Amino acid sequence: MWEDIWRYAETISICNRTRAIQLRIIHRLHISPNRRHAFSPTSSSPQCLKCKTDTGTLTYCLWSCTKIQRYWSGVLQEIENILGVDLELDPVSLLLGLPSRHVTSVGKRRLYNILTFAARKNILLQWISDKVPSIKDWHKILFEWMLEFMLNYAYNLEYNLFGTEMLNYAYNLEVDMPSDSQRVKLVAFLVQEGYEDNIVIAHDIHTKNRLTKYGGQDYSHILKNIVAKMLSRVINQTQVDKALIENSKRWLTFK
Ligand SMILES: [Zn+2]
Repeated sequence: MWEDIWRYAETISICNRTRAIQLRIIHRLHISPNRRHAFSPTSSSPQCLKCKTDTGTLTYCLWSCTKIQRYWSGVLQEIENILGVDLELDPVSLLLGLPSRHVTSVGKRRLYNILTFAARKNILLQWISDKVPSIKDWHKILFEWMLEFMLNYAYNLEYNLFGTEMLNYAYNLEVDMPSDSQRVKLVAFLVQEGYEDNIVIAHDIHTKNRLTKYGGQDYSHILKNIVAKMLSRVINQTQVDKALIENSKRWLTFK
């Protein structure tokens, strides 16, 4: 098992900093309150900084403290909802990074690794603090990674299917479909976050009923209706032109 844990830590990310964080956890390099107390008995308490009731050993502070257990339960419940699988509160997987045996597909396993690593990092960010890591802070780390990923790799984010408003995705009824207004709201959010050079939008017209002749909104829907909506939702003309013209022009120019 340890062999798998080491191997996993080596491959967790292409980022050296991320690998180092995981290796530090496995090597037990974080100084726990009881160790800090042993170095300087007068200036620090040996108790867990979060609950202040039990001795703060490394395992206690990363896992067993009731406040940390509550955090891990919350994290696990969200990961179960995201992946649609039942998981167990297992420190070998959640802390040491061994993939969960309940997650079988490659894509879900990758996502599980990212979500659990962010949850670990969230604890370490509050390591020397009485503040208990929260689910909200965990979301923040994940969201920052997502935006960083988009920026670093110069990905374009495409909001597709403008003009298609339905309750569920036809091929997977578990998936809720956004409305055009919700799509515009998300585009406006990304523009405000500084991603106006990474957004493209489209209709995805692939059936007859989308054409005017058969009662649809046709190829002019974005130009006639969505642009006006964008302009009324703090997106300016230059940003609209980027989403409609410039970003696609840049993306479709092969060199
Ligand atoms: Zn505690």
